[in-house]
Amino acid sequence: MRPSLPTLGEPPKRRRFGSVLLVSLIVGGAAGGVYWWKKRTGALPLQPPPVAAVAPDAGTVAAVAPAPPPAPVDPLVAAGLARASVKIEGPLETALVQAAGPGVGPALAQVVTRSLVWWVAVPNEILRGDTLELLYQPREGEEPLVHAVRFMSNKTGQTHRAYRFQAPGDTQPRFYLPNGEELELRLESSPMDDYEQVTSLLRDGRRHKGVDFKAPVGTPVKAPFTAVIKRKNWNFSGNGNCLELEELGGKRRRALFLHLSELPRELKPGTRLSAGQVIAASGNSGRSFAPHLHYQLMTQDDRVLDPFDSHRTWRRTLSGEQRSALEAEIRRLDSLLSPPVAGN
Ligand SMILES: [Zn+2]
Repeated sequence: MRPSLPTLGEPPKRRRFGSVLLVSLIVGGAAGGVYWWKKRTGALPLQPPPVAAVAPDAGTVAAVAPAPPPAPVDPLVAAGLARASVKIEGPLETALVQAAGPGVGPALAQVVTRSLVWWVAVPNEILRGDTLELLYQPREGEEPLVHAVRFMSNKTGQTHRAYRFQAPGDTQPRFYLPNGEELELRLESSPMDDYEQVTSLLRDGRRHKGVDFKAPVGTPVKAPFTAVIKRKNWNFSGNGNCLELEELGGKRRRALFLHLSELPRELKPGTRLSAGQVIAASGNSGRSFAPHLHYQLMTQDDRVLDPFDSHRTWRRTLSGEQRSALEAEIRRLDSLLSPPVAGN
């Protein structure tokens, strides 16, 4: 998909005056035509076209030759980004299909939902009259990357903002709030420390039983508690390489890890694992459409637990140089979004 560009206006209509004026008008028109040609091909930012100054009574025309236009740079195009701005009147996906086109709209709705879900319940708390502005990067054969989200919510009465940014020294980009905190909560004793994004939460309305961590194949996966292996590689066609652990002591929770990379032979049912021990590497096996870890917590009687309730949580905050770099990126992305919505 190509990013949708701001449409250019019609070239100015040439008016015919008396034959005396014709030569001058042709000169002026040609200059304007050259300008428009450059503008159309070079995607210049919108500027009023130069006009031939007509002295109405004197019968003379002074053709004002335009100075050569400055090098054409649309900051959005130069940044490889596109912008979508929608007002919610119905389903989010419908609004984004209208704003960004049927090619990218549905995927864009999915991707931006992963940010919105940290502010409101999706879809119920996305309300008519909410506004959403996005900067995104369309990609061939892949879901678009969202770089900035500005969401004015009638549910919370606030304008929420989040920015994608890879902090110097980090291996993954993450989403940050303007105050330097990460948008996403993190789990204490997390099964994964180094991931790009939580792409599915239990409360995102998808009736999914686990939390999905988007991470490159090979990212370390750790035991969230002292545990023993109960099962390995069951329902292989769906789950891929997988493990089920049972907590030793405590609440005796069960933890399921799906779509892993190939597991070492020495991991078998009965193997004891300590909390925080690296037990596997994430992968993309089984019914999985992109590299990620599916992490699912269950009780002994098969109730699904939300890891964001069952674990303690915290929010990482950037400081020092990382924080300054984030602030520079926020300024860059804000300048590419439309002016801030009035309000907080
Ligand atoms: Zn999953």
